[in-house]
Amino acid sequence: MRSPRAWIESVLESGSSEARRPVLDKHNQSNVKGLYIVGDLAGAPVIKLAMAQAAEVVEYLAAQPGLGPSGPGAPGEASSREPGSDDPPAVVDLLIVGAGAAGLNAALSAQEAGLSFVVLEKERIASTIDDFPEGKWVYAEPDDLPPRGKLWLDGARKEELVARWHQIVEDNGLDVRLREPLESLERRDGVFHATTSAGTYRARRVILATGQRGNPRKLGVPGEDLEQVYHRLYSPRRYRDEEILVVGGGNSAVEAALTLAERNRVVLSYRRGELTRIFKDNRRQLDEAVSAGRIELIFHSEVREFRPGEAVMTIDRAGQREERTVRADHAFVLIGAELPVGFLRSLGIRLENDWRGGSLLRALALGAAALVGLWFLGPAVGGPAPLGGAFGTGGTVGSAAGGLLALAAVLLLVRLGVRGDRWAWLGLSFVIWYSVYGIKVGKGSELWPFRGWGYSSLSFLDRSWAFWYTVLYTVLMTVFGLQAMKRWGIDRRDRFQIWRYTSLLSFQWVFFFIVPEFLFQWAVKYRWVGEALASDPRFADQAWRAYGIVYAWPLFFYTWFYDPHQIWVIWGIVLTFGLIPLLVLFHGKRYCSWICGCGGLAETFGDRWRHLAPKGKRAKRLEAMGLVILAFAVVATALMLFRDARGWYQAADRSVGLYRILVDVWLVGILPVTLYPFLGGKVWCRYWCPLAKMMELTSRLATRLGWSRFHIVANDKCIACNECSRNCQVGIDVMQYALRQETLDNATSSCIGCGVCVTVCPMDTLSFDPRASRRGAPEIRSASPGEHSAAR
Ligand SMILES: Cc1cc2nc3c(=O)[nH]c(=O)nc-3n(C[C@H](O)[C@H](O)[C@H](O)COP(=O)(O)OP(=O)(O)OC[C@H]3O[C@@H](n4cnc5c(N)ncnc54)[C@H](O)[C@@H]3O)c2cc1C
Ligand code: SF4
Ligand code: SF4
Repeated sequence: MRSPRAWIESVLESGSSEARRPVLDKHNQSNVKGLYIVGDLAGAPVIKLAMAQAAEVVEYLAAQPGLGPSGPGAPGEASSREPGSDDPPAVVDLLIVGAGAAGLNAALSAQEAGLSFVVLEKERIASTIDDFPEGKWVYAEPDDLPPRGKLWLDGARKEELVARWHQIVEDNGLDVRLREPLESLERRDGVFHATTSAGTYRARRVILATGQRGNPRKLGVPGEDLEQVYHRLYSPRRYRDEEILVVGGGNSAVEAALTLAERNRVVLSYRRGELTRIFKDNRRQLDEAVSAGRIELIFHSEVREFRPGEAVMTIDRAGQREERTVRADHAFVLIGAELPVGFLRSLGIRLENDWRGGSLLRALALGAAALVGLWFLGPAVGGPAPLGGAFGTGGTVGSAAGGLLALAAVLLLVRLGVRGDRWAWLGLSFVIWYSVYGIKVGKGSELWPFRGWGYSSLSFLDRSWAFWYTVLYTVLMTVFGLQAMKRWGIDRRDRFQIWRYTSLLSFQWVFFFIVPEFLFQWAVKYRWVGEALASDPRFADQAWRAYGIVYAWPLFFYTWFYDPHQIWVIWGIVLTFGLIPLLVLFHGKRYCSWICGCGGLAETFGDRWRHLAPKGKRAKRLEAMGLVILAFAVVATALMLFRDARGWYQAADRSVGLYRILVDVWLVGILPVTLYPFLGGKVWCRYWCPLAKMMELTSRLATRLGWSRFHIVANDKCIACNECSRNCQVGIDVMQYALRQETLDNATSSCIGCGVCVTVCPMDTLSFDPRASRRGAPEIRSASPGEHSAAR
């Protein structure tokens, strides 16, 4: 059984495990000074973007002092030292690793800028693209972006594209060292020393453009290095009348099986019970081949060993394990590619979500020490003496010691965090947000250790902490919201995202700040609401209800409690049971990503961690927690509404008290914000918000009845780059829908309509507009089953 720590770690890592990236600054420099990363490896999912990144980085480097014709070493001097030779190789400006789209464009840009360089290539020029299935059409997306740099790019068959690139390399005399993979890299005295099988190179800067595809994933079973086992399929038509085993469940495995089955007997083995990430067309062809007996498809099967001419596998048949040996003159293990984590780490490169060691217990102890320290500090700012003042704990010495303890614990957490201890950051994040929300609970009812002093010490300028908290919230949302608007909207020229962030920030400023904190009071004071309302305490003295203008029950849980004026009662009913369902009908759960202030901080401050949202089936199952909270809200509301009539005083008061502390303080406040940097921003909205769950259920019903207008559709251009799934902040595997060209809606997902998957898709595959699914590029589709290829 897994330890609790391993379980927590698996949840924390599920978000980024499939598409990990190196940590880079805005110029694509890694944590290793002078080492830049471009292309697929740096998150540019298509050729045009990989080329653009490479050109930008070289442009930036060419403008730096110490490189170029003015720097030591001149263009064309690149040389390697043969093993055994004593002469040091010449120092070049750039060592470019990888001769794919990014590497070649970097080389051409460097040549143009007068920088000396050498390109190392593990295999062949453009080997990733060269490995695409025969005749595959390569799109030059995004359409609206002109290609940058001198490398040729247009929509073309892969053969034409690769031939053109070979010609360009030759015409420009690019120094590309083929079949010379980079093996190790060291930085000494500001110069990189690179080692390959052929010798060593010295360079002032390194550009890593090694892509993600060159590292086929392996099964790691005995016999996998036998001659009959391959991790790529180059020429499927070479095989005839043979027994072939294909292992895998993505498009590359399915396409290989289909092509090989034309002339051979093929077994397709997959470890799961369903093929979820394959193209619709592949699915159809596979079903046909299986029914016609051309392919034997074995689900729940795992190869345990390869032996000459055969493979041994175990098959799980409804819990019964069966061993089977299948003939395999050739075996193709096509289970995707993986990031060369070991290689990157050996170069000293840090990856995102990459933590080193650390201790959960130590972080808990330090977090607790910080809070104990604050407890002892309390009396210095008007708080009660801890331990009833025993041992002088209410005096100056006790307070000073408490302050020092809190400071030391916080500094230690920061120090450990900087060294790569994830738990230390988690502990620090908890201390901060526990304090913020634990104090906001209210004067006199603050959480320990702030009880009796926290609220008043943070209330100043005649305003309470609740007000300053709203100010802080709005400022954080605005600062980070403008950054997010730039990231998704302005930089990508995406009007949808610009409108979305404008909407979110406007709702926050107007309905969650100005109206409840100022306008309502002025409306009462200056009698704008009329004499009757202004002098009715049920209206005038309950400014907090103004938050309920936009917040609907059960998010605004107190809508009908505590003697509301009938205006609020009626508005609460209209909003919750009229306007929200109407909105849901047309826009699904967009309330969460366009309107709501609770989700607003997640969409802005939490946005930079959106790719860390937990993914996978287990993460999805946990969404059922929202149902429990919704049921709790319904029961507690019913108890309160019938409290007086039925005499349910104790049960009603207790359930509301529990709801208040559990949901309003812990689940909305402390926990989600603490977890933003670890699980992305949408923890509350996705897992616990009862309004989100209510909207989801409504939207599901509307979708099933065919009334819903909300859905995301996909055309047939998906290249399985995973960008959409990576950036979905509620952990939806959008790519799975795109590959199968299935409609994504609230019948099967908890999508909140933020549209970021649509925004980031480099192939314009996804759209909210149903007509777009028909806008693929059918005229260039080949009839060959090998047209599309690998799902990662
Ligand atoms: C199935 C599929 C379909 C696609 N279709 C399209 C499309 O239609 N249009 C589009 O724009 N994009 C498409 N792409 C994406 C496109 O292939 C990538 O965006 C592009 O190849 C990235 O270029 P790159 O230079 O970053 O990496 P790569 O093209 O992968 O090049 C990396 C190079 O580095 C070399 N290398 C690796 N390790 C080392 C080492 N240690 N030392 C030396 N060299 C090394 C590799 O051999 C390789 O040649 C598709 C991808 C896939 C998988
Ligand atoms: S599926 Fe797309 S629109 Fe829906 S929540 Fe995820 S990223 Fe946003
Ligand atoms: S739909 Fe998703 S996986 Fe497919 S190309 Fe677009 S972003 Fe990539």
